[in-house]
Amino acid sequence: MKKVYLDHAATTAIAPEVIEAMVSSLHNDFGNPSSTHSFGRQAKSSIELARKTIAKAIHANASEIVFTSCGTESNNWVFRNAVAHLQIKRIISSPTEHHAVLHTLEEMAQSNDFELVLLKIQPNGQPDLAQLEALLAQEVKTLVSLMHVNNETGVVTDIEQVGALCQKYGAVFHSDTVQSMGKTSIDVQQIPVDFLVASAHKFNGPKGIGFLYIRKGTSMQPILLGGEQEKGLRAGTESVHNIVGMAKALEISLEQLEAHRAHVLHLRQYLLNALQLEFPGFKINGAEDGFYNILNVLLPFAADKTAMILFHLDMKGIAVSRGSACQSGSISPSHVLAQMLSDDDLTKPSLRISLSHLNTQEDIDYLMEALKTV
Ligand code: PLP
Repeated sequence: MKKVYLDHAATTAIAPEVIEAMVSSLHNDFGNPSSTHSFGRQAKSSIELARKTIAKAIHANASEIVFTSCGTESNNWVFRNAVAHLQIKRIISSPTEHHAVLHTLEEMAQSNDFELVLLKIQPNGQPDLAQLEALLAQEVKTLVSLMHVNNETGVVTDIEQVGALCQKYGAVFHSDTVQSMGKTSIDVQQIPVDFLVASAHKFNGPKGIGFLYIRKGTSMQPILLGGEQEKGLRAGTESVHNIVGMAKALEISLEQLEAHRAHVLHLRQYLLNALQLEFPGFKINGAEDGFYNILNVLLPFAADKTAMILFHLDMKGIAVSRGSACQSGSISPSHVLAQMLSDDDLTKPSLRISLSHLNTQEDIDYLMEALKTV
């Protein structure tokens, strides 16, 4: 059966060059990076080379990059550290963040001594930055957590603007850049941000590895205690081949960024034209000018199609999503769309179609043919 993958916001295929780098690392870097003999030093040197590559990609210093297992871990760590060690008394975030942020904050707010404020969401999916500024003007030691690109709608938050606001009022700024890392250039010299979170499997790297950018001078306590790995901040023998794979994936993503972006933008327009032609009543959930690879659309179908549309497409070998991957098996409405759509529209089928450089016009044609038979 033909297979068409249009769910690149959920995860991506590992690039062949990345697999090659990882296989070579598995062969050559098997020593324990903490060992002082040549086998250990070889593994350690691969890790440090990867750290430099990643730091360079975001214009950071290598000492500001810490390897973690995934985006979820990094987000959890930042919040727990902020409340326990940075004297944070208030966290301002938004109700459209990924659950790795929202569920963590909601759970922590029940038992910790800080106030959680979720900003209002405007009809275009953007958090209300005027409200943010009014809150920041109050003198409370605050951490702001706002994602760069929303994983369900592709809505982009101007993190340079948010960072400038945080800087003006002395707030700490954390941004979940899991969806944008490797897909746009991010420069920590330009963005006043204290913490950035990234996950390799979103940019054609392996699963189970991510990194956290921690601006120099920000106090950080360990997430795991044990050995001296990651300067004692995250004990546990490093996953060397994953770290090597992540660095390679980020390096090639950024090298090919402009070509990939142009290709995906072309496909996005092709898809929008096809939707306009076949389903003229469709609406974009979020902003028309959302991030280039994510398109969330409300289809003008009856509400009784909602429960089966993904199943129907899956039967034809097409992978798309209704929201974030964790929710796609459920028919409860997405917490992100719930902030933006009317009750009536929420019952109708919305699809998240997320594209990559690996997609073709034929993939879009195949999706459109399948949608016509829903
Ligand atoms: N944040 C965002 C915006 C995401 O899209 C995801 C993954 O879907 C995560 C965090 C979680 O990342 P990970 O799968 O690496 O834990």
